[in-house]
Amino acid sequence: MIFHPIPLKDCEALLKDQEDILTPAWEKFRRDAALQTCPSCGAGDPIFILDTRKPFASGEILPRYHARCSACGMDYTLWTRLAIGVPTPSRVC
Ligand SMILES: [Zn+2]
Repeated sequence: MIFHPIPLKDCEALLKDQEDILTPAWEKFRRDAALQTCPSCGAGDPIFILDTRKPFASGEILPRYHARCSACGMDYTLWTRLAIGVPTPSRVC
């Protein structure tokens, strides 16, 4: 299947009178997700990694992300803090 991007001017015309629901949702996500701490080392301010295997879920307007600790490199789910990857050995505290 080949996807053809819509030209930017056509996108702008389609969205001209639509309410912006993505920006407030993204800002809330960033604010809430930034408070999550690494289950391994406790560091905050994670890096958000797009779930490329299933980037969208039914009923969600934002793509799905998991967190990667900026200190030790552990990957974990954002809201449950379940480990889904191991810390990078060279970065373990
Ligand atoms: Zn960590």
